[in-house]
Amino acid sequence: MARPFELDPLFRSITTLPGIGPRNGKLLEKLIGGPKVLDLLLHTPIDFIDRRFSCPLSDAPNGKVLTTEVTVEKHFPNARKSLPYRVKCSDDSGSITLVFFHANKGWIEKLLPLGQAIIISGRVEYFQGQPQMMHPDIAKPSERETLETVEAIYPLTAGVTNKTLRKAQHAALSYIPQLPEWLDAAHKAREEWGEWHDCLKTVHEPLSEQDLEPDRPVRCRLAYDELLANQLTLALVRDRQRKINGRAFKQSVMLRQKIEDILPFELTGAQKRSLHEIDSDMTLEGRMLRLLQGDVGSGKTVVAALAMMNAIESGSQAAIMAPTEILARQHAQSLEPWLNAAGVRFVTLTGRDKGKSRDLILKQIRDGAAQLIIGTHAIFQDDVAYHDLGLAVIDEQHRFGVHQRLELSNKSKGTDILVMTATPIPRTLALTAYGDMEVSKLDEKPAGRKPIETMLFSKEKLDQVVAGLQRKISDGVRIYWVCPLVEESEILDLAAAEERYDILKATFGERIGLVHGRMKPTDKDAVMKQFAEGALDILVATTVIEVGVNVPEATIMVIEHAERFGLSQLHQLRGRVGRGDQQSYCFLVYSGPLGEIAKERLSIMRDTEDGFIIAEKDLELRGGGDILGTKQSGVTDFKVANLAAHGDLLAAARDDAKLIIARDPKLESERGSALKTLLYLFERDQAIKYFRGG
Ligand code: ADP
Ligand code: MG
Repeated sequence: MARPFELDPLFRSITTLPGIGPRNGKLLEKLIGGPKVLDLLLHTPIDFIDRRFSCPLSDAPNGKVLTTEVTVEKHFPNARKSLPYRVKCSDDSGSITLVFFHANKGWIEKLLPLGQAIIISGRVEYFQGQPQMMHPDIAKPSERETLETVEAIYPLTAGVTNKTLRKAQHAALSYIPQLPEWLDAAHKAREEWGEWHDCLKTVHEPLSEQDLEPDRPVRCRLAYDELLANQLTLALVRDRQRKINGRAFKQSVMLRQKIEDILPFELTGAQKRSLHEIDSDMTLEGRMLRLLQGDVGSGKTVVAALAMMNAIESGSQAAIMAPTEILARQHAQSLEPWLNAAGVRFVTLTGRDKGKSRDLILKQIRDGAAQLIIGTHAIFQDDVAYHDLGLAVIDEQHRFGVHQRLELSNKSKGTDILVMTATPIPRTLALTAYGDMEVSKLDEKPAGRKPIETMLFSKEKLDQVVAGLQRKISDGVRIYWVCPLVEESEILDLAAAEERYDILKATFGERIGLVHGRMKPTDKDAVMKQFAEGALDILVATTVIEVGVNVPEATIMVIEHAERFGLSQLHQLRGRVGRGDQQSYCFLVYSGPLGEIAKERLSIMRDTEDGFIIAEKDLELRGGGDILGTKQSGVTDFKVANLAAHGDLLAAARDDAKLIIARDPKLESERGSALKTLLYLFERDQAIKYFRGG
């Protein structure tokens, strides 16, 4: 089934709308998060101007938007350029002055001829006791056009005015087709929701403050549609996972014992429990699709290693994928002693491996000589063929969406999947991003960890911080120094980091290194290695160290311009320290003055180390996509749905989706076919493909 024709108008480019060309089209696309008419329609108003108020001019209230009919009385052209052109207008009760700066005389005379009846609309301001209207929003002959009484105001971006947007929106509204109803009739009636096309129109016509609230029925319905598409996709994926035969591995005894024999620690209760959950999945027919969620430092790697032994001891292969080169190398390093102890043959494959050496690695993966494969995305590229991949572990993958998971499962039939994430994901977000997965939680830190002491410093106090560090270094402490994040510019990030590096070098001497995203991977590794081995005291870094890096001896983290980071990002960064049994510190250095929200955010960091509290707060203060870093991946970038406000709808959508899949797994009923339209509407084509495959 291809996309239903009736959806075509919604999938047209916004540049087909009046007033939108290639240039502002690009800007608009960025603003609304997509290139098509539907993206514009789902870009909903945040405010409105009420032009319904009218009164005699003598009663015009200061500061209020007034719309009324007046007669043009007299023109007062400006004597000098810097002065405004004034036009006096009146009604039976009194007069008002329209004020125009930088106006073209000819244009005004033509627009507002003497004696003409005109409609004016704009904010009334009193100047020396007289009412005036500066640059009226509307001033035109009254017979020519009817007035819109309420004008929606949209979130805007430079280069796109509200007027342009409204004009395009107006045209877009006329494209809305009537679609078959995909909601359950009883549910819809209970919620008193209207038709989809009506709701989509109505949301653009706010008449009161309440109409802008997320709990309005029209907004709820549109949000629900979006959430239902999301949950239905996830339910389909899960259903498919269930139906594909996985394999029943033997639970590893021998290899696992060999690793446990050399572990210098006892597994925590949470690690044991999670491993047990993984074991039960892996030893059953049917595929594992499990999320291992554990805050930074909770010890996910060893759980993954022990899980991989199930596949390997059963004669199959296991792979572990990290999002970056550094992390892949780091995994190789942490796993190496364990794998050696167990006698497991492993290879590392990243984008860096080229030519002959890559060919050799590929051969080992293909013929099964490599039992365990560690790497970046490179290990799942098209030309990488596995002998028999039994378990794929995907680490730190907030960027790994449902689509990628589907692709991976297609790569090799029956592969179990374990996704590990350090991001403490609020329940609502977990549902939208990982609703198709079972979850194991590492909610207990390894014993002996001391809380990290977090302190806030304003930038003026940086000298104090530096002096403190000097003392610490003489005690043998290692320090991360994270440099400001400059928005959307890696080059500026880098400049800031390099500058800080030079300054610190002048103070601390040679035992200081710099890593950033633009370095050659081998150079990066070399610096990281020096830091890990203790040849460097300070590691200056851009956010490349954000995830996963493990240097237990590093106990101080300085974060410059902490106010520019997201809370979850700060939490990830801070998690780089506090990984050993020494007391650790995190210094958040901010540049004042801070706004209320910024203050609140930083105090949360100071007051708690609980990743869940931090993530919930982050969600509250910033919205969902940012936490998962998935704005681009389409996992959670809802347009109307707002997870902080629509949590109940999400839960309802999940239940609805479950029921749909249970009753009509191929979406063959009448409602099922309407639901396919819904999936197309939200471009869940990937999911739809699976109906054909069955
Ligand atoms: P993360 O969950 O952030 O990936 P890691 O797996 O990197 O955490 O573990 C962090 C550190 O804690 C590592 O040095 C690891 O060897 C150690 N570790 C893991 N489990 C335990 C445990 N049960 N007791 C003590 N230390 C542990
Ligand atoms: Mg890790």
